[in-house]
Amino acid sequence: MSAAPSDADARRAAPPVLVYPDGSLTPPPMDLYARAAATAQAVADVIVPPRDAAAIEVPAGSILRLGCPEGPQVGDLNLFALNDLSERFYSGKTRALHGTHVSTGDRLWSCFPHLRPMATIIADSLSWYGIDADGGSVHDVIGTRCDPYTHHLLSGEDYDRCCHSNLTRALAAHAGLAPEEAERHVHDVLNVFMCTGFSRDAGRYFMKASPVRAGDHLDLFAEVDLLAVMSACPGGDCGQEHSSDRAACHPLGMTVLRPEAGMLEGWESPARNGYAGGHGL
Ligand SMILES: [Zn+2]
Repeated sequence: MSAAPSDADARRAAPPVLVYPDGSLTPPPMDLYARAAATAQAVADVIVPPRDAAAIEVPAGSILRLGCPEGPQVGDLNLFALNDLSERFYSGKTRALHGTHVSTGDRLWSCFPHLRPMATIIADSLSWYGIDADGGSVHDVIGTRCDPYTHHLLSGEDYDRCCHSNLTRALAAHAGLAPEEAERHVHDVLNVFMCTGFSRDAGRYFMKASPVRAGDHLDLFAEVDLLAVMSACPGGDCGQEHSSDRAACHPLGMTVLRPEAGMLEGWESPARNGYAGGHGL
């Protein structure tokens, strides 16, 4: 460890400044979404089998309900603009704008150069959890996704049911892509229902058993036409390990709910980011 300077304490005492202060973003019209959601009826659904993934298309203005129908299980979610796979969920910027974990009122943003809300979280049955004594919380945008490369790096073994591979297979099947092409579109996820944090002493990424139980759900209002792909993680509730067949796993559900006609008066699908794109050239 390097020697501390004589003014180390003073340097550490600099006040933290929120990089993106609360209030900088235009708040989503949550009342409008709530009224629309109250009229919504299910129009499509898919079951995500354990240690596998599934895809579903979600028209803008619809609600995507991510559900836990049977038992504790976490999901790894990828979002794409339906007609342009190059516009995808940007977990890093979502984290910078909203925090390490997301809940009702937060938005899921797309990558550059689009940078617009792809979805807004309008209901979260686990919002009661808050931040626990270990610093853990649910629905993180800090983890990436379990993947066979890191698993091989750490264990020397091959495992084919990591979320990365599950997402690759489901995207390939839905979009009609070769697996190696589909894999290039798979990106860092929203860890649905997963309970994670950073250890207080060393800042190390940790997971703990998810508080999710049968009947819990996370509802996303689709701001643009979406293709949602979700993996039911081989870690199950991620209370012990992932990237293996040892954990108890359960299915997840994805349901598309459509509000009654006229309930979204005044709402428009957001346009692509307004930056002119000059980059100083
Ligand atoms: Zn996983």
